[in-house]
Amino acid sequence: MRDAAPPRYELFALRYATREARRRDHFIGGDPHDAPMPMDYFVWVAVSAARTFVIDCGFTQAMAAKRNRTFLRCPVASLQLLNVEPDAVEDVILTHLHYDHVGNHDAFRIARFHLQETEMQYATGRYMRYGHLSHAFEVDDVCGIVRLNYAQRVAFYDGDAELAPGITLHRAGGHSAGLQFVRVHTERGWVVIAADVAHFYENFDAKRPFSGAFHVGEMLEGFDALAAQAPSPHHVVPGHDPLVMQRYPAPSRELEGIAVRLDVMPNNAN
Ligand SMILES: [Zn+2]
Repeated sequence: MRDAAPPRYELFALRYATREARRRDHFIGGDPHDAPMPMDYFVWVAVSAARTFVIDCGFTQAMAAKRNRTFLRCPVASLQLLNVEPDAVEDVILTHLHYDHVGNHDAFRIARFHLQETEMQYATGRYMRYGHLSHAFEVDDVCGIVRLNYAQRVAFYDGDAELAPGITLHRAGGHSAGLQFVRVHTERGWVVIAADVAHFYENFDAKRPFSGAFHVGEMLEGFDALAAQAPSPHHVVPGHDPLVMQRYPAPSRELEGIAVRLDVMPNNAN
């Protein structure tokens, strides 16, 4: 039996890019209200006295130009603002292999990458023949992860796993075949980094599937899985919602607009 109290991590979201979009862009079947609904791009990091887990690694400035995204700052360089040195990071969790989650993997020179095996099979398998599914991947990034595997630097999972006390992985699929989300133990209990299991609060709250889908049924079940792993809806952090920057406080004045703390309750919880 394990000790009942896992370590508490400090948990941060770093916003590194954004883009303009409309409501109809984010829901299967569109949306009757024609209004702006911009999308933010994040990486996350969990830090305890003993260990650091980076969750996803964003994309580069060159990729932002290629895909017409507004690049705010390098997500890897931003980690240093939280005193996390990329060269020293030993563990990077990849929620999935879409271009906006895996682009800077080579900046983590010694890290081991934690990935669902299904995602690797999907990103290198027969469905990538179809642009509709492959457009969210960059083949060079996928090849980079293949190379890391040959270098014994990828750890594969098949479903749920405990990476360390206080850090668990949960396969959800849906948006990408091997998409996983991450649960982190913090001062306020377990916080669920949904990543693209829920792009926006509204996808999760209203159970409205996001437009980018591999398996709609698994996407809907993913919303249930988030709810099952979180102590309350206020403990679920969506992967691309600008509201995250409004609901959580910056760790310091200098980091306002750059990073927020997720290990405290959001300001809409009262
Ligand atoms: Zn994605």
